[in-house]
Amino acid sequence: MNTVNQTVAIVTGGGSGIGLAITEKFIQNNITTVIVGRDPEKLHQAKQNLGTLCIPIVADLSDLEAIPALVKQVITQFGRIDILVNNAGINMKKEFTEVTNEDFQKVIQTNLVGVFALSREVVKTMLPNKKGSIVNISSMAAQYGIPKVIAYSASKTAIEGMTRAMATELSPQGIRINCIAPGFIATDMTSKAFNQDVERKNKALGRTPMGVMGMPGDIGDAALFLATDSSRYITGVVLPVDGGNSIGF
Ligand code: NDP
Repeated sequence: MNTVNQTVAIVTGGGSGIGLAITEKFIQNNITTVIVGRDPEKLHQAKQNLGTLCIPIVADLSDLEAIPALVKQVITQFGRIDILVNNAGINMKKEFTEVTNEDFQKVIQTNLVGVFALSREVVKTMLPNKKGSIVNISSMAAQYGIPKVIAYSASKTAIEGMTRAMATELSPQGIRINCIAPGFIATDMTSKAFNQDVERKNKALGRTPMGVMGMPGDIGDAALFLATDSSRYITGVVLPVDGGNSIGF
């Protein structure tokens, strides 16, 4: 076990997009950061670029049975988990009537049930320290209605409710739970969605007062703030980082 007095974080989906940007910010701030994803190549690449404070672990978070062993592995190696960022997520764009039960369940399993199961196991390790910070990642799909993303919207709306419920239950024990609702951020996920649907892109930017898409680093900055003691009196909030998209006309 590594007994060095260091801050240890887990960032799910830390190998790409928004999760990678969060990991970069954490590592710049000397936080040992375990990144979790299914694709070993993506994680390996991140490790190559980010160095010794970046610790890749390959795991599929929709496989609930594997989650306790994953958390145990981090505790065995580092002795503690101070921060969990539940960033991993998948999207699925389909007409409402075309979505099968399996489609719906697949999104819910990754974006919601996996987040619950990982948070539960991590909280068990935070409770004895009476300190911890969990940051969930929601979406504009939880702020207003977006067509053709029914399962994604359901999962992200549930994440915001879970953030508030966990905050009320766990904050008295020193564990803060907050959530970031990113607006339209330039990553693989959005470029795929927008390249196939320019009208949707124009609509998204048309109601964004700042008029441009956000960068993954914008979410990284917010995650660093919510994860660390800079936000020590903040719990249970959903922070839009969206160029004003959620309040735009
Ligand atoms: P990416 O597709 O770039 O990243 C998603 C990450 O999640 C990948 O690293 C992927 O790794 C990981 N992941 C997905 N499924 C699993 C799984 N079952 N087990 C482990 N890891 C998994 O997307 P973004 O960076 O854009 O999105 C990150 C988060 O931000 C998501 O929750 C998304 O919903 C949210 N978001 C994004 C917005 C945007 O504009 N980009 C807007 C609003 C919210 P791997 O493939 O290796 O498993």
